[in-house]
Amino acid sequence: SVRDPESLLVGLNPQQREAVLHAGGPLLIVAGAGSGKTRVLTHRIAHLLATRRARAGEILAITFTNKAAAEMRERVEALVGPPARAMWVSTFHSACVRILRKEHATLGLRSTFSIYDQADSQRLMTMVCRELDLDPKRYPPKTLSHKISALKDELVDPETFAQESGSRQGGGNEFDAVLAQAYSRYQARLRQAHALDFDDLIMTTVHLLQAFPAVAEHYRRRFRHVLVDEYQDTNHAQYTLVRELAGISATSGEAGAAPVEPGELTVVGDADQSIYAFRGATIRNIVEFEADYPSARTILLEQNYRSTQNILSAANAVISRNPGRKAKRLWTDSGAGPAIVGYVADNEHEEARFVAEEIDRLGDSDGVRPGDVAVFYRTNAQSRALEEVLIRVGLPYKVVGGTRFYERREIKDAVAYLRALANPDDDVNVRRILNVPKRGLGERSEAMVNAFSERERISFGAALDRVDEVPGLATRSLTGLSAFADLMAGLRELAESGAGPAEVLGAVLDRTGYLAELRASDDPQDASRVENLAELHAVASEFEQEQPEGDLADFLERISLVADADQIPSDDDADGAPRVDPGVVTLMTIHTAKGLEFPVVFVTGLEDGTFPHMRSLADAEQLAEERRLAYVGLTRARERLYISRAAVRTSFGVPNEFPASRFLDDLPEDVLDWRRRESSMAALRGPGGFVGSRGYGSGGYSSGAAYGSGVPRKRAVPPSPDGPTFGSATPRPVGDVPSLAVGDKVTHDAYGMGTVVLVEGGGPNAVAKIDFGSEGTKRLLLRYSPVTKL
Ligand code: ATP
Ligand code: MG
Repeated sequence: SVRDPESLLVGLNPQQREAVLHAGGPLLIVAGAGSGKTRVLTHRIAHLLATRRARAGEILAITFTNKAAAEMRERVEALVGPPARAMWVSTFHSACVRILRKEHATLGLRSTFSIYDQADSQRLMTMVCRELDLDPKRYPPKTLSHKISALKDELVDPETFAQESGSRQGGGNEFDAVLAQAYSRYQARLRQAHALDFDDLIMTTVHLLQAFPAVAEHYRRRFRHVLVDEYQDTNHAQYTLVRELAGISATSGEAGAAPVEPGELTVVGDADQSIYAFRGATIRNIVEFEADYPSARTILLEQNYRSTQNILSAANAVISRNPGRKAKRLWTDSGAGPAIVGYVADNEHEEARFVAEEIDRLGDSDGVRPGDVAVFYRTNAQSRALEEVLIRVGLPYKVVGGTRFYERREIKDAVAYLRALANPDDDVNVRRILNVPKRGLGERSEAMVNAFSERERISFGAALDRVDEVPGLATRSLTGLSAFADLMAGLRELAESGAGPAEVLGAVLDRTGYLAELRASDDPQDASRVENLAELHAVASEFEQEQPEGDLADFLERISLVADADQIPSDDDADGAPRVDPGVVTLMTIHTAKGLEFPVVFVTGLEDGTFPHMRSLADAEQLAEERRLAYVGLTRARERLYISRAAVRTSFGVPNEFPASRFLDDLPEDVLDWRRRESSMAALRGPGGFVGSRGYGSGGYSSGAAYGSGVPRKRAVPPSPDGPTFGSATPRPVGDVPSLAVGDKVTHDAYGMGTVVLVEGGGPNAVAKIDFGSEGTKRLLLRYSPVTKL
């Protein structure tokens, strides 16, 4: 049921229409947030298909998350029907995995190669450092991993780096020499393990296309249309990959490369939303697009369809302060909309309560559902205070990002088994599970097998199969190692006999005794581990239903490539029916929110030192990136936008006062409605001394009746009649701050007995360092701390 192509143009503005219809040379669409860039990509693809200018198989579209890819595919399918299924719509990483799985033989890779995430690659780096006998203090594996990752983003391979750093004046520095050595060893170990880390997925694909012209030609013939969303966040490796795939590379004219007419390249982006410079993304890719592609056409979109004028004015005011940017005119005809609501809280708990109360109020007054609301923060750690309040008031929510499911220990263990089964040479995973659950195999026997594998130039897994030949093993170790090798052989047989991922996983958990051990434990954490494993099993069963042909490697690929934003709860039912489910509040960092939109958005933690982030304050470039991040955050809102800050925020156990974010200073007063302008802290510091908090509304939280959820709420502190309560963080009147001296004994509500070791400042700002014995030494702002002098 291919649609009438004309109908795909209905409702588009002239510039959008032009972008959809453009044919021929490279096309760049640059525009501010919410101007329909992603929508234009979708319509362009649908139009290509509907007019038969392209077949679905000729289209490669790159999005930022797997979820965005699924959404784009669904929309195109809704527009043009089932033929859309043959399109490739995916993230950079998924597209590369697909290519590499097909072309593995060319590279001498096993088709079931493993994909190492950050944790895996750091484990491998730790092994490499040990092998090279590097001092972990001078050369922390984590630092080396970061540096290598940055080199890969720039497509610098170990040989090139060794040459470049060695030939630098004075023979290069010592650190670079070590880095070169570690990089080369790390790559060799990956290779040996038939594994690729995340950055390799891109770099290896680029190398594949550059080193094998026939392969490159195959893909250039295939993908006649390459479309990239969020182009401002591509790094050099991704940039090169796009060039290679579209066939507009520098090498395409070389002898041997058959001439293929270049494909049509469409990229969309917004330099003001570039927020991944720290991962090597470079605005250069968008700024210099026209220079890189001389035949390129650039289209600007200026009408915003997402947000109200007030929201746009606020966002524009913030971003316009960035130096050296191209000014954009972004307008909307959707009207001013409600004012942006501002709130200054005394601390993060009170900020969280404001957010929760407001969500609840909007539900009553405007029918806003939890699923319409997103709450943003700068760093993951900030979610905790928000979560506590949302749990207490019974508002359903989901945290996207943070400690992810697939990073949990039991999940990593189970997945390590599956990886080791799919790829016996995957040393990192084989060694991870060697003694999990405990089989009495110590480091010594592991080291002996490792030494043997190095001598024989085989993988650790292959050495296990020849464990009889390993010299010097104690009988007990030999028995344990052979039992492990047999166990793995049995499981591998099952996997190769055509059993689905769920069945294999079940067998792993049973035959290894992993599940039995957790079940027998009386540690409550182990009970939740069992639940998590059950969840993983459910994921595998679901996968089997969706993809009956899929094998273990396909399943592993699926779970390796889940990005943060992929965990966002779905907005609609699959069939597009209006949602009856009220959904859940989404909590996430602003980085994760890129490209998304919500009717109601809270941007929290607008403090100098929180957002903009502390480490950006002294660096103009980083500050500019924080500002772009603020722009991204504010422009996610469709109808209502809230901005808040806490006067005092506790991080690492220490309450700190933060000044208002400089971004707040930029907001035009006339679009703002400050519900509370100053914290009681400010008043307390002012000439009038402590005046107490007026709170926000009588009744409110302390009445305990504000929420109709029926969920019983804990009330740690009795409600106070004259304002909000803060739990342990209630500020006390100045007179009540205990005056302490070094050597005084105190008690603290949470830490117990302690001894004062240092006192700084006096009066309301007094800070004491207190030794709480086994609880550690804490630095506490006394005004906020439940400390009593004994
Ligand atoms: P971002 O920069 O945040 O990624 P974007 O430029 O990709 O934003 P879209 O997400 O494509 O913007 O569009 C923003 C909203 O505006 C979406 O809800 C989209 O459906 C709507 N929209 C875009 N163009 C039009 C149009 N011509 N008519 C009506 N609605 C539109
Ligand atoms: Mg977009």
